[in-house]
Amino acid sequence: MDPKSIMPTYKRLDVEFARGKGVWLYDTEGKRYLDALAGIAVCGLGHAHPAVTRAIQQQAAQLLHTSNVYGITRQRELAERLVALSGMDNVFFGNSGAEANECAIKIARMYGHGRGIEKPAIVVMENSFHGRTLATLSATGSRKVQAGFEPLVSGFVRARYGDLDELQSIARNNTSIVAVLFEPIQGESGVRVAPPGYLEGVRELCDRHDWLMMLDEVQTGNGRTGRLFAFQHTGVMPDVLSTAKGLGNGVPIGVCLAHGKAAGVFHAGNHGSTFGGNPLACAAGLAVLDTIVADDLCGNAERMGARLIDGLRARLAGLKGVIEVRGRGLMVGVELREPCPELMQAALERGLLINVTADSVIRLLPPLIIGAQEIDQIVTTLGELIEARESTPASPG
Ligand SMILES: *Cc1c(COP(=O)(O)O)cnc(C)c1O
Repeated sequence: MDPKSIMPTYKRLDVEFARGKGVWLYDTEGKRYLDALAGIAVCGLGHAHPAVTRAIQQQAAQLLHTSNVYGITRQRELAERLVALSGMDNVFFGNSGAEANECAIKIARMYGHGRGIEKPAIVVMENSFHGRTLATLSATGSRKVQAGFEPLVSGFVRARYGDLDELQSIARNNTSIVAVLFEPIQGESGVRVAPPGYLEGVRELCDRHDWLMMLDEVQTGNGRTGRLFAFQHTGVMPDVLSTAKGLGNGVPIGVCLAHGKAAGVFHAGNHGSTFGGNPLACAAGLAVLDTIVADDLCGNAERMGARLIDGLRARLAGLKGVIEVRGRGLMVGVELREPCPELMQAALERGLLINVTADSVIRLLPPLIIGAQEIDQIVTTLGELIEARESTPASPG
């Protein structure tokens, strides 16, 4: 489908969208689709949200970009808003999730050197995803992401996700550890929710060993799980927090927030970004956060997420091909027994946009503005598609 002029790094579905409104996308033929993916957790406010449109139109007419060698009002405003809403102390602005995590990794290393550790190491998890840059793919727990790009960046120690005992044993045996980096819910590897008490347990270990607790909320952040950040379901705070995807509703932005001792690590010249924190991206971020708060989209995500999970569990109960429905808020996975990548095309034909990740997990990340009727439509359509698989022999992906 791609012309020779585009590097073939993506397997694409044969559809192209001309416009969107709310939870709906319209293809070039005018056919309507219910968007249960939101550009992979990006368009939380849905498509063409008037608050975002207005904010970026006004900002574009006024000033797009200057430079981080000057003051930037919108950047200060967004930093203040992020700090107030998260409880963190300060912010670094980049342009993507990978960049936000690069910043976190650099903070951890510099923090370690400050403690006199010559080769600081960061604990990362099996089946994690942190991005496609060299450092973040090295942190990622997927051979598929890493293969062909060796030598990997060193300084990462792998642990089983959710296993506090293993973290404890790493603490006993490795004095070079300076931080733990993980997702509160692993997204790309199939919507795997951390077991209850895991964040609290990691927090305790980090305090005991003077490690930084670093959360990758690139996907779980910005209201997705029913709180602005997933850690806010718990009583603990991270030292470092990265987020991106949903913050700009489609305008590229990634941020790394720091708290306490982590907030004092960087000084002038330690890190930078040409585009990071430019007025346009920050205007979008401000409009997104203001709308999430004003319209209680976290509350809606929590309610609609519960309706989606309950609805799917009821509809899929007893189907032999279904292992589990899981997730939190509007980050939902349906794990099947068999690989099911062909479901993306089958759903597309039925006017529903979904994603399949880790071969056999249907991933649903609809806009946070979604209503009950549309949730029920997702349940109905998916129910029929999954049920149809039960009666037909497994098709090649
Ligand atoms: C998507 C994602 C990233 C990478 O973000 P990019 O903007 O694609 O660089 C990192 N971590 C998590 C948890 C993600 O879901």
